[in-house]
Amino acid sequence: MINKIIYSIIVPVYNEELVINESYKRLKEVMDTIKENYEIIFINDGSKDSTREKIDAICKNDENIRLVNFSRNFGHQAAITAGMDVAKGDAIVVIDADLQDPPEVILKMIKKWKEGYEVVYGKRAKREGESLFKKITAKTFYRLLKSMTSVDIPVDTGDFRLIDRKVCEALKSLPEKNRYVRGLVSWVGYKQTAVEFVRHERFAGETKYPLKKMLKLAFDGITSFSYKPLTITSYVGGMIFGFGLIGLMFETTKSIINHQSLLNLGLLLTTNLMMFGLIFLSFGIMGQYIGRIFDESKNRPMYIIDSNINYRKVEQKYEISV
Ligand code: UDP
Ligand code: MG
Repeated sequence: MINKIIYSIIVPVYNEELVINESYKRLKEVMDTIKENYEIIFINDGSKDSTREKIDAICKNDENIRLVNFSRNFGHQAAITAGMDVAKGDAIVVIDADLQDPPEVILKMIKKWKEGYEVVYGKRAKREGESLFKKITAKTFYRLLKSMTSVDIPVDTGDFRLIDRKVCEALKSLPEKNRYVRGLVSWVGYKQTAVEFVRHERFAGETKYPLKKMLKLAFDGITSFSYKPLTITSYVGGMIFGFGLIGLMFETTKSIINHQSLLNLGLLLTTNLMMFGLIFLSFGIMGQYIGRIFDESKNRPMYIIDSNINYRKVEQKYEISV
């Protein structure tokens, strides 16, 4: 087979009209220096702005660019998964569109890949231009997740990484729906290494990860890789029950000695409130897991593709065996 695609660059995009042209330009500049075949696959995750039209225009002029349009917003992790499903390259790179992950780092990743590493992840040595809230919550989350799971998920790494075709196939064979891709990459194993980089400020526009989406991702990460929250509540429940029992015995003995009524309203109300809180908390945690079990059992596809631009062209250009 000649003319094979060596590199697939996956770029998930959601309402990125302000950055898309610059992002394309920088990625093309970097990839053109390599002198090996590549494709850049934009996964348009249901953008409501002119992102789609902008990428359409790019596709018309450049056959190495592909565009997959989702029928609606399915989320960042679904977009990455779709990219891996359609990618043809031997090495697959996932990068955000907003240039926070500098495209130049891809060259360093490729170097490591050529040395024999099968996963090269980008480790954020420093984060620039992000709110203190985001920095603190991200840092705490990565460490919390690490302390909860037996899978060695590296801290301070996002989805910016290069994976070998082998790793991509392994990931494709995992059927779960609420995906925490960076965790799954650690889970599948293979020879992994890191390259450090400084995470810059967004080129333009604002984050497409509001608190709600961040929390969803955090819970996906925790629930897919740890049972601890489920078990912790039973320990805490047991402890509270123990305290309650001791308190009850103490109060009863005291009341009997002092010839008082056994009913103490204040004590009753506060302990009840505490217990209710605890019960609801445990239900909530169970709900997080059960909701995900429900998702898996429905077995719906992770995303729906509306159209696939330049797919045939790229196929014809590179995939015909001679
Ligand atoms: N993104 C996406 N779907 C979404 C949210 C985000 O495809 O529902 C894309 C977004 O366009 C960007 C990448 O995922 O290319 C990371 O998002 P963002 O930069 O907003 O996240 P942050 O860097 O602020 O965590
Ligand atoms: Mg970003």
